[in-house]
Amino acid sequence: MNIINQFRSLSYKQQRDLLNQLQSVLSSSRPILEHRHVNNCPYCQSNKLYKHANYAGGGTRFKCVECGKTFNEFTGTSLHRVHKKELWDGFIRLMLESKTIREICVELKISKQTALDWRHKVLSAFNDLYTKQFKGVVETDDTYFRFNEKGKRGVVKYDRKLRGISNQQVSVMVTADRYKSIDLKVIKLGRITTSALEKKLNLDRFNKSNIIYSDNSRIIKNFFRDLDIQHETFIAKEKYNGNVHVQNVNNLTRRLKDWIKFNFNNVSTKYLHNYLNWFMMIEILKDKNNSEDIMWDYLMKSSSANYNFRKIENNYKILCS
Ligand SMILES: [Zn+2]
Repeated sequence: MNIINQFRSLSYKQQRDLLNQLQSVLSSSRPILEHRHVNNCPYCQSNKLYKHANYAGGGTRFKCVECGKTFNEFTGTSLHRVHKKELWDGFIRLMLESKTIREICVELKISKQTALDWRHKVLSAFNDLYTKQFKGVVETDDTYFRFNEKGKRGVVKYDRKLRGISNQQVSVMVTADRYKSIDLKVIKLGRITTSALEKKLNLDRFNKSNIIYSDNSRIIKNFFRDLDIQHETFIAKEKYNGNVHVQNVNNLTRRLKDWIKFNFNNVSTKYLHNYLNWFMMIEILKDKNNSEDIMWDYLMKSSSANYNFRKIENNYKILCS
């Protein structure tokens, strides 16, 4: 407690300066490795590993008995071959505070490109935040985002004359059960189709005991009928149709759109799936007081983050083809 008393005796300015200094020390000393538990080889998933060597900074190099490859704690994660790992504690905190790229650049003294890369490396770890099967009633709906090539030179202007759903809009499927399990997935350019839903949705999350509620969409109805899962249609005209409603997905969709509009104005279609991941992370962190730790745990749990990050460009090409 002596240290606290000493702190009290400082002037306000001294206190502020000291706090800033302490903050930067904290940033560079966070034991990132605390959140990483290597049990499997990131290349072949084998659990037969042995410790190969220790390296500077307290990390370990492993060797896989099955495939013979060596790797360390960061291999395959968002931090794969990232320089300045010591800045990531601060970076994650700034992300949690929804700071803009510009603010992050100033605070951490990094370039805009680095800040953007880091953001998407982080978000690439969150492709599978929710894997649990849906329970009971599952509401689902398609929603649309304007196709956006933000950041690209010579942007093709959106044709305002086009009405309805065209290839200048991107379909996203919003799904939620009534136990707070959710799913947000980019489906395709233009209106959803059953074949695109089959490719993009994680079908393992649905089971025969689910009842799907949606609006009167022929595509959604047919899709779940083919999966042999019960479906009920919500009809807006009826004032109260028992508990057949899609309020949960409607709320979720509205909050998602507000969040994007408020924080980013608009997001590039290439990275839309990552912003959906971010929003899902925010849903997980809601009302949690140890959000930083939770985020770090999810971040370091993913050994496919680096792979997902490198796939972004190619996936975007496929989406646009
Ligand atoms: Zn291996």
